[in-house]
Amino acid sequence: METAMLLFDKVTKRYTDNIVALNDVTFGINKGEFSFLVGPSGAGKTTLMRLLIREELPTSGNIVFDKIEVPKLPNKLLPKYRQRLGIVFQDLRLLESKTLEENIKFSLEILGKDDKEIKETTEYLLELVKLQDRRNLFPVQLSGGEQQRGAIARALANNPELLVADEPTGNLDPDSSFQVLDILNSINRGGTTVLVITHDREIVNKLKTRVIRMDEGKIISDTKGEYDTIVRPAKETSKIDSHIKIGDEADTDFEQKKEEEEVEYDSEMDKLDKRTLQKFLDAKITSINLILNLTEDDLLNLKIVKKEKKELEKFLKEYLNNKCKKDDKKQNS
Ligand code: ADP
Repeated sequence: METAMLLFDKVTKRYTDNIVALNDVTFGINKGEFSFLVGPSGAGKTTLMRLLIREELPTSGNIVFDKIEVPKLPNKLLPKYRQRLGIVFQDLRLLESKTLEENIKFSLEILGKDDKEIKETTEYLLELVKLQDRRNLFPVQLSGGEQQRGAIARALANNPELLVADEPTGNLDPDSSFQVLDILNSINRGGTTVLVITHDREIVNKLKTRVIRMDEGKIISDTKGEYDTIVRPAKETSKIDSHIKIGDEADTDFEQKKEEEEVEYDSEMDKLDKRTLQKFLDAKITSINLILNLTEDDLLNLKIVKKEKKELEKFLKEYLNNKCKKDDKKQNS
């Protein structure tokens, strides 16, 4: 059994009494793994990343990166710890007043590298992200995909052990998305552990690798496969050990445990038409939030017929209306 490089151990993050962004989250990521973290807006993905880089502290639980207990890390060791991570933020954070090449060089200068190393590493990184001929352009002059690849190159300047990319293909056309994915994949093949936070079904389905799915601050599925392959983590997943092994062997375990378990689902779903409900449960779609995330194509794949779809739309409309009313009440009280 391998030891996980990164462990989230029963992590809860409460921003206020009412806002629980992460609720008893446990998972491990092994060295060399490529994983996707998916889930609707508000699921807690960004919070998870902020805890990893120690921008926030957990309310309870622990985060361990290569034996370092991140919440307990003294402030003076934080820069060194963060240098072991490469983070590509959603807003990229490329410096607008510098060219792409200068952006990469700047990161290396901050790390105190000498001129020779700065030059060589910059060349290597520009080649890795296939942007040698765009080196003298400023961020605004680059296309969305090129900016994303540039930000990835810059995040790799410190040769991180773990690269985390937040929505690296958001707003990109399919071709540019696949180029970004190819680059992340080749970085991973080079030995870097990669975690990609995404909503992008296409890229998830292309790699068919591990998909950790979050919803309402919890991990609701953790399996290898496609975006919509939903396998609830086995009950034991609150213990770290069961997460440390991943891959095919673990998948088989999950499958077997799943067979033995009664499928639990959101009680609100009982109001659905029985046949529609069964179709969702067969596909392991066990919460309204997951239903709200489905596309037209998903509904087709699930063989939800026209009449069922109409009923479903009515149900979701009522559900959202009620939810809005409840939220308003909460806000006013
Ligand atoms: P995601 O990245 O999956 O969209 P987030 O981690 O951003 O989810 O948010 C999870 C929940 O925590 C949401 O309900 C969000 O409103 C809340 N939240 C996030 N950041 C803060 C904050 N700084 N203060 C209060 N609540 C926050």
